Amino acid sequence: ALQDALARAEAARGLNALISINEHAGEHAEAVQARLKAGEALPLAGLPVVIKDNLNLTGTRTTCASRMLEHYVSPYTATAVQRLISAGAVVVGKANMDEFAMGSSTESSAFGPTLNPWDLARVPGGTSGGSAAAVAAGITAVSLGSDTGGSVRQPAALCGVYGLKPTYGRVSRYGLVAHASSLDQIGPLARSAADLALLMNVIAGHDPRDATSLDAPPAFAAGTPDDLRGLRVGVITESLDGNTAGVSAVLAGTLDALRGAGATVGEVSLPALKHAIAAYYLISMPEASSNLARYDGMVYGARGAGDDVSSSMIHARESGFGREVQRRIMIGTYALSSGYYDAYYSKATRVRRLIADEFGAAFGDYDVLVTPTSPFPAFRRGEKTSDPLAMYAADVDTVAVNLAGLPALSVPAGFEEVDGRRLPVGIQFIAPALHDELLLRIAGGLE
Ligand code: GLN
Repeated sequence: ALQDALARAEAARGLNALISINEHAGEHAEAVQARLKAGEALPLAGLPVVIKDNLNLTGTRTTCASRMLEHYVSPYTATAVQRLISAGAVVVGKANMDEFAMGSSTESSAFGPTLNPWDLARVPGGTSGGSAAAVAAGITAVSLGSDTGGSVRQPAALCGVYGLKPTYGRVSRYGLVAHASSLDQIGPLARSAADLALLMNVIAGHDPRDATSLDAPPAFAAGTPDDLRGLRVGVITESLDGNTAGVSAVLAGTLDALRGAGATVGEVSLPALKHAIAAYYLISMPEASSNLARYDGMVYGARGAGDDVSSSMIHARESGFGREVQRRIMIGTYALSSGYYDAYYSKATRVRRLIADEFGAAFGDYDVLVTPTSPFPAFRRGEKTSDPLAMYAADVDTVAVNLAGLPALSVPAGFEEVDGRRLPVGIQFIAPALHDELLLRIAGGLE
């Protein structure tokens, strides 16, 4: 299985989905064989997986797609990755991403953009674009990404695969390089609900090494159409505007399928969602500016040139970080500075509370909420790179879920034809906290 995955990775090299191949994969595969011979039962025996390059794995480079960490070799392994390995999976390689998981297109990687397998002129989405493209191109059946504001779900949608952002705390963040700690969550991508369930049953669960980890044993299984009968589905009205015709049509088709299977479909308004993007960036940028302070070229990051400590640090940060990362550190620091804290960061945390409350009220009437995952299918490379606000707007349907800590799943639900090409469209299902299992029952029921 490993040799086949490596051959597929080589054949798909042009996509630039992987930053590195795991040089120890052969040894890891042999270790799995030895454990099987010794009689161990391994739920993922020999399964090749790709992991995003912000997840640590001992002895591999973990670059976060940044020059700053280009030569950083992990001295330890992330809990989610260790659980995959303990279950018998073999990490084939580390997936490309936007630098430090900041972006929506995988174009801000210091190692070049990843291409969308459905149309090589288009982006795979981001920031887990390499993880999504690897699964869409069939390099591996499953991968791991991370989702701070949509980075598993949006690339899953744009590449036509499933992507789950678990409830905050369900999957340990130990060993995930921090972007915005109160929003970050590791999530799986796959080509079926059953494969997502397989992965979640392995990676979810309490971890004493992550103080925000929840003690909720996973019980995932892909559902059947029976799971849709009587389901109360609420379409979020704020997500109905601004979509392409194809996205609107796919949403309508999904709602028809739900009704056909015996679900009831209603509409629900969450007015605070119109402030979600602003609140998300005013919370994620300050957290990122603080998390990224450690990369000074002294303890962490590539050493800068200079005759004294401060000029060396300045050079390390100027040459190690790309433009988007620098922009966020500056805006984040500004929003936290005294005199602006109340106007920006503190106000954003109040909007965050409002959004969580509105979700809570909506779940009084509905079991699950629905929106498109993205208002449009994959866009062209370069289309949004010169306009950060247009790039941020790509997250309009996903960021509120992270602010509220909820689980959400993007399901590949259809296609939009653009310039004679079929581009995948994803639909997002949002559940109450800790009801992640329900999302996979729904996805299985729709398959
Ligand atoms: N696009 C969002 C951002 O740039 C989400 C990133 C993510 O989920 N890692 O912050």
